[in-house]
Amino acid sequence: MKNIIFIAPHGTGKGTQCHLITEKFGFKHLSTGDLIRSAIKKQDAFAKELEKTINSGALVSDEIVLEMLKDYLKANEQAKGIIFDGYPRTLNQAFALDELMNELQEKIAKVFYLEITKEEALKRTMGRLICPNCQQSYNKFYENLKPQKAGICDKCGSSLITRDDDTEEAFNNLFEVFMKQTLPILDYYQNKGILKKIDASKTQEEMFKEVEEEINEA
Ligand code: AMP
Repeated sequence: MKNIIFIAPHGTGKGTQCHLITEKFGFKHLSTGDLIRSAIKKQDAFAKELEKTINSGALVSDEIVLEMLKDYLKANEQAKGIIFDGYPRTLNQAFALDELMNELQEKIAKVFYLEITKEEALKRTMGRLICPNCQQSYNKFYENLKPQKAGICDKCGSSLITRDDDTEEAFNNLFEVFMKQTLPILDYYQNKGILKKIDASKTQEEMFKEVEEEINEA
């Protein structure tokens, strides 16, 4: 199984790269954010707590996220590859993932870091529109990413929505948390010799070309 990690601040187009990889390589996309959002749909007391945490831009506790991760990996043990999107977000999570990989006799083949300035990431976040039906994403601030008809999905015709946590306040919190807690992970993977930095000011196609080559070689 090829295990790869994506590390990037909010608003880099990380989700699109993960989607392109699943299409090209048939890997499973493990997004801890998506796992948490689907747990929130249950609407019980635990879900309400989770919702409060993620809407403030803070991190959910390590124990909760690790449990979700283990359940996902158990359900997908036959996968050709796993894309870890949104995990690890702290050094402790990176250590926990190493332990888990050892237990499963697996290893992390590559870690991609998508680099972007804070200004650009904010613009991309504030313009983001998502189709709640087919998950296609758009951006109202970029000509090449706008839907053909304002507010409507080109693919399935559903009304587009913004994510509840795509606010400037949540973005600023997320960016600060990223700088403090997630950036130290880069040194950790750099020292292991598996880190690849990608310039996220490039187009999605250009970024994917680099990503694809790296996965083929990993
Ligand atoms: P994302 O979709 O990756 O932007 O994640 C949305 C939110 O889910 C984050 O802002 C966090 O509150 C929470 N979250 C996602 N992944 C993790 C993680 N690895 N550890 C803690 N919280 C997480």
